[in-house]
Amino acid sequence: MRRLSVKVKITIWYTIFLVIITAGFLAILTYTGNVRAGELARTKLADSVADASEQIDTLGENFIIDNDLDFYEDGVYLSVYDENARLIEGRRPVELMELPAFADKKMKKLDEGGETWYVYDSSFDMDGHTVWVRGIVKDFAEGGTFTFALRFAAIALPGLVIVAALGGYIITRRAFRPVRDILRTVDEISADGDLSRRIENGDVHEKSSDEVQRLTSAFNGMFDNLEHSFEKEKRFTSDVSHELRTPLSVIISQSDYALEDEGYRERALEVINREARRMAGLVNRLLTLARSDSGRLKPEWENVDLSDMCETVAWQQESIAAEKNINVETDIEAGVYVRGDETMLIRVLLNLMDNAIKYGRENGRVRLSLRKEGSAARCVVEDDGIGIKPEDMEKIWERFYRVESSRSEEGSGLGLSMVEALVKAHGGSIKAESVFGQGSSFTVMLPLSPEEDTKEKTGSEGRG
Ligand code: ADP
Repeated sequence: MRRLSVKVKITIWYTIFLVIITAGFLAILTYTGNVRAGELARTKLADSVADASEQIDTLGENFIIDNDLDFYEDGVYLSVYDENARLIEGRRPVELMELPAFADKKMKKLDEGGETWYVYDSSFDMDGHTVWVRGIVKDFAEGGTFTFALRFAAIALPGLVIVAALGGYIITRRAFRPVRDILRTVDEISADGDLSRRIENGDVHEKSSDEVQRLTSAFNGMFDNLEHSFEKEKRFTSDVSHELRTPLSVIISQSDYALEDEGYRERALEVINREARRMAGLVNRLLTLARSDSGRLKPEWENVDLSDMCETVAWQQESIAAEKNINVETDIEAGVYVRGDETMLIRVLLNLMDNAIKYGRENGRVRLSLRKEGSAARCVVEDDGIGIKPEDMEKIWERFYRVESSRSEEGSGLGLSMVEALVKAHGGSIKAESVFGQGSSFTVMLPLSPEEDTKEKTGSEGRG
């Protein structure tokens, strides 16, 4: 059996609910209305009988009844009897065949032909004679309100329910339209893989900010993200192949020359060696990034003397910097220990120093400083070179991103992404600051080694 759609289910549910509520209300209203009408009829009857009693007088043997007395008024029939239950004057309803015996001040109920009547008698003494006044009234509710309410309900209810059900169905259909759009779009994307599709936000949906509208936006947002990641992935793959193709073609052509020309072999081997190293470097960086992406970039933790490492790296880089006549300055606090992976941290420092020299100014300076700041080690690599434009500041961390003006320098655009991944794997942070044309500075913050902390504390206690 085909399952009912949500909108049909909702419509059925509230239609049933509506019918039950309306019928219930009508029943309660009719019932209380009837009770009240009965009460009214009885009060009116007793009042009329009491009023009538006051308008009867005697003159000798005869009764005198005031002319103002109406024997039928507002549904109440009145009649006056003597002590022998003989009618003196009055009216009685023709519908009632048999009337009950007289009983003073007692409300009697009669059921006659499906209708309810009330009979009320009152007797009083007048010059030695007993007079009976009898009032009869039909229950105000009978035949009137109740049947009217029922008739009204029978005609109006189905109409109202149909209108409500139709209206409700149309509204739910409209509300669910974006859901149908979402389904259609998802189906289309699954069919042709075109991630640029979006769920249309028609006029109807735009006005509302309900859950369905939010769902549409959430889906579109998700498609944006998916498309973005997909694009990034594609660009990454093409960048990788591009980066590997250059050194590979150099290696192939150099080995070709070497095979033909024996005298060229040594030179060719040098080039091949350099290119192979470049490739190895690239593959290493890619591997680091891939590990970082999959959460497998795990440092081999040890206590690292960062001060010592900075001194060594600065010293190593001096000769490379000298080629550009760049002066390497250091300001390194001694005894700064961090917990980390020595090889990884060396790669961080080397990359930052390498960039500082690469993008540094000829005859300029590169400065490497290290000091403790709270519970962190703060390591800064500064240069006074070309700097970075504000619009490039965010992008330099992207994989394969290289600022247009720095394309002349050798590089792959993977250095900073890798540095960031390595620093994050150590629970640290890195930020760049730069004034375009005046140089840049990269600040790395790494948590100090806990042993370092304890050493410090016991040291100071000892001194105190
Ligand atoms: P690359 O291999 O191109 O150096 P990186 O990821 O290390 O790749 O750096 C990305 C880009 O950031 C570089 O192309 C360069 O434009 C810019 N950059 C990095 N370091 C510096 C710096 N110290 N001064 C100026 N620009 C820099």
